[in-house]
Amino acid sequence: MPARILSGSAIRDQIYAELGSEISALASAGIRPGLAAVLVGDNPASKVYVTSKIAACEKLGLASIQVTPPSTITTSQLIAIVEDLNRRDDVDGILVQLPLPPQVDAKQVLQAVDPTKDVDGFHPLNVGHLVAGRPMLLPCTPAGVMELLRRSSIPLDGANAAVVGRSDIVGKPMALLLMHANATVTVCHSKTRDLPATVRRADLVVAAMGRPAMITPDYIRPGATVIDVGINRVTDPSQAEKFFANFPARLAEFRAKSIALVGDVHPDVAGTAGALTPVPGGVGPLTIAMLMSNTVRAARLRRGLRTTAAAVQR
Ligand code: NAP
Repeated sequence: MPARILSGSAIRDQIYAELGSEISALASAGIRPGLAAVLVGDNPASKVYVTSKIAACEKLGLASIQVTPPSTITTSQLIAIVEDLNRRDDVDGILVQLPLPPQVDAKQVLQAVDPTKDVDGFHPLNVGHLVAGRPMLLPCTPAGVMELLRRSSIPLDGANAAVVGRSDIVGKPMALLLMHANATVTVCHSKTRDLPATVRRADLVVAAMGRPAMITPDYIRPGATVIDVGINRVTDPSQAEKFFANFPARLAEFRAKSIALVGDVHPDVAGTAGALTPVPGGVGPLTIAMLMSNTVRAARLRRGLRTTAAAVQR
């Protein structure tokens, strides 16, 4: 039986519909939540990400501003920009697009963001709230995975979960969220011994390593749920032939465009998993949806307003 495909795009649309009602309610109270995106230099991938975040704001009727300092900026100059955004009343959410140039101390910059405007959930205070199980603003990608699991009715209570990857942005917060949802969590990384056997014990696998198609069917217990966070660009035809050997339509698309996106999970896992997120169209759309949700949430929290909307309350 091929895996049930867990479409992030469909869930993103549900979340946008719910956020739309929240945003209208705020508009009638004279509030228009606003997101500020700081894009340093001209990294093409960062530009694409920021453009899609701004487009999402426009689609939902949120205000947005972009600040685009040059790649030569210093840590203290960037902190001054962040502090200016902290003071602005029309800015509810601040995101500093990563990676930053090597001369900038990213940790210092992220700590300068007002925790109540920290819509990426990277400030140590928000990390602490997450560890304590009292989340304020959660990192968008793991929060998106939790929304996807909840809205797809994937059971977590008592489930064995394996998170592959332990980054501050994805793996660590993902493991904490799953633990708080009563899963028994194993966090795997590059030093984990016998990774396939460890992952094979899991009912739920979250792959976030940045290694194209590394999780092959032999890592997966038949029927397990597999969440593929990875986004990797494939341009090498021999790699594409290997990844898409059983997917002629995807191979044909690769041949036409000379590029394809592949996750950290091999497409063949669809034959073993019980449920699987696609790449593209899985976790990616939910990351942006959660950024929008965090912006609305920050606008409410800052003004002491509560909400009952599922897309905003977590
Ligand atoms: P990262 O900071 O590079 O962290 C990668 C993690 O994977 C590290 O903990 C590393 O272990 C582990 N790892 C690397 N190779 C491994 C191996 N062979 N076996 C086991 N573990 C291994 O990456 P990230 O920022 O978390 O991103 C991970 C992936 O998610 C990337 O493909 C990224 O593009 C994607 N991503 C997608 C979204 C989205 O919206 N869908 C958002 C963010 C990231 P060590 O700690 O031991 O080095």
